[in-house]
Amino acid sequence: MADGGPHFKTVLMQWGPIPPSGGPNRERYLDHKGRESLRGFSDEYEAVLVILGDRAADMPALDFKLVEEDEGAARAIQRQKRSEWIQFRSTIDQATLDAIAPRIKKATTSAVAALNYLEDHELKEDAHRAIHRAAFVKRGLFGCPIVLRDGAYWEDCAINISHLRMGLSVGLVSDFACSICARLVEDCDHQMGEPYPKVAERDSGECSICEGTECEHIMGQSYLAVAYASAINAVAHEASFVARPRYPQARIVEMIRDLGETGNDPCVRAAAEQGILNCDADLGPCKGFNEMKTGRSGSGPIATRQTSPSSRSRCSRSPFDRLDRRLARSGWGVVRLPATFFVGVVPGQGWRLRHHAVTRSGLDVVPRR
Ligand SMILES: [Zn+2]
Ligand SMILES: [Zn+2]
Ligand SMILES: [Zn+2]
Ligand SMILES: [Zn+2]
Repeated sequence: MADGGPHFKTVLMQWGPIPPSGGPNRERYLDHKGRESLRGFSDEYEAVLVILGDRAADMPALDFKLVEEDEGAARAIQRQKRSEWIQFRSTIDQATLDAIAPRIKKATTSAVAALNYLEDHELKEDAHRAIHRAAFVKRGLFGCPIVLRDGAYWEDCAINISHLRMGLSVGLVSDFACSICARLVEDCDHQMGEPYPKVAERDSGECSICEGTECEHIMGQSYLAVAYASAINAVAHEASFVARPRYPQARIVEMIRDLGETGNDPCVRAAAEQGILNCDADLGPCKGFNEMKTGRSGSGPIATRQTSPSSRSRCSRSPFDRLDRRLARSGWGVVRLPATFFVGVVPGQGWRLRHHAVTRSGLDVVPRR
């Protein structure tokens, strides 16, 4: 890497309404979304078992304690489970694997999402176990690849990433446009939250009524649509790691894996290039969660720092405050884009937005894959 240090690919925001900032509204929101995600996990995981049919009974079992402090003991379990999975996988035909792949992937992302919503909830341990169960099967059947990119090893391991309990907060400024007439909210006569007739159009493949790419709205026909404020011309100024992000899913999605000396081994490099270098963390117990300790630098595997010096004062409160005030005035707000930024740390300079690109809607983001 050009400037060393850990690098991450992260989600900064999600589609849809801005999540409530706190209080009972936020608790309801987290509870609802968390349970929904847990159901998503269960449904997909069950579907995998159905696809496996009577082979499911022979699948390697997650029969170890989830948390194990002893590294040697954890490694032994990983090795044991890896050989069990190699054996089991050799008995499953390609068509079955192809049918399972999207299901187990969804089960894993749903489980991770569930924990992101439920990390302070009584269902936290259910979400934790769900992640291990899904990742165990995903790794067993499809691997957990460590890939070489720009001279560095990258991983998107559901276990390693989800156990780093931190998220991102982005400081941004934006305007709000009316979803009916596209004028700035303060300049138009529409009442946010009220329905108005709107003509269905397909702009870049998305329906102007429902934003779906496949829907039943007839282009050119008028429908009743609820007016909302849509963030436009949003510019992100900085991103910070925080223990509890406003957007529960604003998390690391990919990060650099430091393989130490092993990383220089030509065989390891070659394996990564061929896509056959795999992480084993999913196959055994974890060491528990790594909670971000705010205000303590370097307490975890990576140094944490709130903001870059130039923006510290502005962001001493939630960066969403400014957005909140605008939304309070407009009455109804939606930030439209999911964001994936590359965030890197430059030694001595704190976190930096490493890369971002502009999309057609004007928010400085790279759409999530
Ligand atoms: Zn992994
Ligand atoms: Zn309007
Ligand atoms: Zn539609
Ligand atoms: Zn764990």
